[in-house]
This record gives sequence, structure tokens and C-alpha cells, in this order.
Amino acid sequence: MILMTQILHVIGGGMAGSEAAWQAANLGVRVVIHEMRPKVGTFAHQTGLLGEMVCSNSFRSDDDEQNAVGLLHWEMRQANGLIMQIADKHRLPAGGALAVDRNPFAQSVTDALMAHPNISVEYGEITELPEDGQWIIATGPLTSSALGQAIAAETGAEALAFFDAIAPIVYFDSIDMSQAWMQSRYDKGETEEERTAYLNCPMDRDQYEAFIDALMAADKTEFHEGETAGYFDGCLPIEVMAERGRETLRFGPMKPVGLTNPHQPDVKPHAVVQLRRDNKLGTLYNIVGFQTKMKYGAQAEVFKSIPGLENASFARLGGIHRNTFLNSPTLLDQQMRLRSKPSIRFAGQITGVEGYVESAAMGLLAGRLAASEILGAALDTPPANTATGALITHISGGAEAKTFQPMNVNFGLFPPVEGFKGGRRGRKDRYKAYTDRAKSAWHAWLKAEALDAA
Ligand SMILES: Cc1cc2nc3c(=O)[nH]c(=O)nc-3n(C[C@H](O)[C@H](O)[C@H](O)COP(=O)(O)OP(=O)(O)OC[C@H]3O[C@@H](n4cnc5c(N)ncnc54)[C@H](O)[C@@H]3O)c2cc1C
Repeated sequence: MILMTQILHVIGGGMAGSEAAWQAANLGVRVVIHEMRPKVGTFAHQTGLLGEMVCSNSFRSDDDEQNAVGLLHWEMRQANGLIMQIADKHRLPAGGALAVDRNPFAQSVTDALMAHPNISVEYGEITELPEDGQWIIATGPLTSSALGQAIAAETGAEALAFFDAIAPIVYFDSIDMSQAWMQSRYDKGETEEERTAYLNCPMDRDQYEAFIDALMAADKTEFHEGETAGYFDGCLPIEVMAERGRETLRFGPMKPVGLTNPHQPDVKPHAVVQLRRDNKLGTLYNIVGFQTKMKYGAQAEVFKSIPGLENASFARLGGIHRNTFLNSPTLLDQQMRLRSKPSIRFAGQITGVEGYVESAAMGLLAGRLAASEILGAALDTPPANTATGALITHISGGAEAKTFQPMNVNFGLFPPVEGFKGGRRGRKDRYKAYTDRAKSAWHAWLKAEALDAA
């Protein structure tokens, strides 16, 4: 039955909420956006405009052949995405990146949404989880505390985080396995897979001492004003641990006990850096316990001094930020619905993606999925070999739920393409193959959607 009168409510008019509303409205559904600003502010937003960029003015690389975020731009443009349309209109010169003039950008997003005949905007904070109707919650990393508490009451407190503590993530095929090896501490585990679940990088005394010096000397970022540190002993930045004593890391995340280096079985490593698989595909590994406030340039330099990681490519670097996000792999289904309350979808950074572009893409998808459900036309999520599909597949089950932390789009989330060389040398051809494959799959998905709706 088609309930044309059913309204879609979107909470939050940021990157994700604005795009979700636009997509659903263009499919013929009436949408109400509930935005708390300017009545209630956040420490990072400056205006009452929809689609405000809270910090940098960059949508990152616009290269849709060699870069996963550029591919996400391309997919959103093909799907008539509002955020991309307006970003293109207010583009500033920035080499291969897509930088925008932030205030005219947010003003244009606001104007376009206000002018849409199917969209209205209600200003005010939503403090409770809705009971009736179709909803998308896109309240972002700075979700107001009342709504955050209401969400936590539904999901369980441990399934909603208020800080991310991101350890750097490395592409497996960039790790030098002639130095590193696979082994769980004390060979623990019932199966061979469990006994070899960790990837280990050994250090001798000199390497460890030089590593501690580099950590302490590295440039660090400060917390934003109003973003209280509030980190607790379980997720201290490694440089803070190092400052507490030069041996702290050797008795913490870098302890060498219970591990034997098969490349040098007679030499006991002085310290060991452990990496743990980050996705089911096994293409990404995170460096265990290495959350950090070091600046990105410094991180790359310091982490490449770890034996085995000299040529590491990072899918993302580490960080600690104020960030409200769900444990989506356990809470959301592939349609972005809350399993326990399927009339509520989540979109944007709160789902555990990271960045303006990824958040807008998750808004685009949630808007289309919600509108299709309202219109009675079932819509499948896009396949994992598209950038949008790779993200939704990762957050709704591809990621390891126990260690789930927010993720940027990257080629490590895509099913591998066969027949291409791994490592740096084959990278150009491999990335082109990823983006070619994604583009035809995205077109097919858009076409199937249009047929379903017809
Ligand atoms: C300090 C900071 C700096 C960042 N810097 C960058 C950066 O440089 N580049 C980058 O790509 N990403 C950055 N991010 C991540 C960034 O927030 C996301 O990329 C993007 O803004 C997320 O989009 P979103 O739509 O999920 O959330 P937002 O864009 O934050 O939108 C959420 C909206 O929901 C509203 N809202 C919240 N609670 C309620 C409520 N209860 N009722 C009604 N409305 C509500 C908010 O006012 C806001 O408008 C940063 C995040 C923070 C916190």
C-alpha cells in the first residue's frame, strides 16, 4: 500500500540530514527537517544554517579514478546529490581537492532545502526517540546530550560511544611480512585462525628507545575548546602513556611476552607492536592500542619507523575526538534501520562513518531507502563494490563489532579485484579497476531503483 501522506522526519540538518531530506523529497515524499540550531548550539557549529561545515572547508580528493573519496563524489553527483551540486557551485581552487567557500555553501544548501515544495524545516531540539512514523536520525558527532541519552537507553550504553579513540589502520598489502609475523599472544585460541589472529612487528632495544623519543617529540593536536579531554585510562593516547614513563608502553600495548619471532626465533624482541584485523575481508589492520593526538604528518613518520611498517600505507590515521556514534554492526540492518525499532533509520557520522563526504553519502542512501519504503517500492542497498555500498556494508556488519571505530571510505573496504598486483607497484591499475567496477555497478543500482519506482 502506498502511503503518500506519510511524512519522513529527519532529525539534524547537517551533511547527512540535508542530503537525506533532498533525496526523499525528490522521490515525492514530504519531509520535515528538525534542526536544533540556532536555538540550541554545539561547540563547533557557528551558524544556524543547514549543511554547515564544522571545521575544514575541504571535501578531499575529487579524483574519481584513483581515490575512494573522489569516487564517492562521483556516485553522489550521478544520484543528483544536493551536497555535491552545491559544493561544485561554490568550488575554490585547491589542486586535486574539492574545497568550497563554506558560508555561501551552507547558505545555498539552506536555500535549496527551504525552496523545495516537499520540504519544511522545524527549528528545535528533539530530546526523545520518536514512537510513530518514519524517522532518520542524522544528528552527527555532536548529538545533543538529551537525545544521546534517549538513544543510549534504547541501544544500551555500551553500544553508543561519545568519544572515538581511533588507532591507525594500515593496508595489509603494504606490510613487510619478511619482518612481521602472525601469532596471537601465547598462541591462544581454539582454531588456527584464532592462534594467528594478530600481526606482530618486533623491536630491539635501540629501535624501542628511538621510537619513544620520536613519540615524545612529535607535534600533537590540542582538544577543541569546549571538547573536554575526558579520556580515561583505557584509551590514553600512546604519547601520553610514553610520557608517564619510558617503559609504560613495553608493559602495555607493546609488551613482547608470549610471542616468538619466526624470522629470528633465538632473539627475544624487546617490544612488539601488534596489529589486529579490522575487517572481514582481511585487507585492513589496526595498530592495537595506538590511539593518538599526534598530527597526521608526525604519525606517518613515527609509525613508519616500526619494523615491517617502513612502507605502510594508511587507510586512516589515528585520533581521539568528541564523537557520538553507534556500534552500527550490531545495531543497524543493511537498510540502515535500528533493528529494535525499524521505523528509525540512522545516517551520517553517528552511524560510524567519518567525514563530510561519507556522512552526506550515508544521508543520500538513508533518504532513498526511507522514501522507497514509504512509497512501497523495496530498494536494495547498493553492492559492496561501489563506494557507497562499501561503506554501508562495512558499518552494518563488515567491520569487527568489538573494535568498531569510525571509518573513512577507502579501497580496503571494497572486495578485492582479481588479477592485479598488490602493493604500491600495481596500485594505479588496481585503483582504476576498483573505480571502473564501482561506476558500472552504481549505474546499474540507480537504474534498478528507477525501474522499481516506476
Ligand atoms: C570539531 C569537529 C571537527 C570536524 N572537522 C571535520 C573536517 O574538517 N572534515 C570532515 O570531513 N569532517 C569533520 N568532522 C566530522 C564532521 O562532523 C562530519 O564530517 C559531518 O559534519 C557529519 O555530518 P552529519 O550530518 O552526520 O553531522 P552534522 O553535520 O554535525 O549535522 C548534525 C546536525 O544535527 C543537529 N542536531 C544535533 N542534535 C540534535 C537534536 N537533538 N535535535 C535536532 N537537531 C540536532 C546539529 O545541530 C547539526 O546541525 C568534524 C567533527 C567535529 C566534531
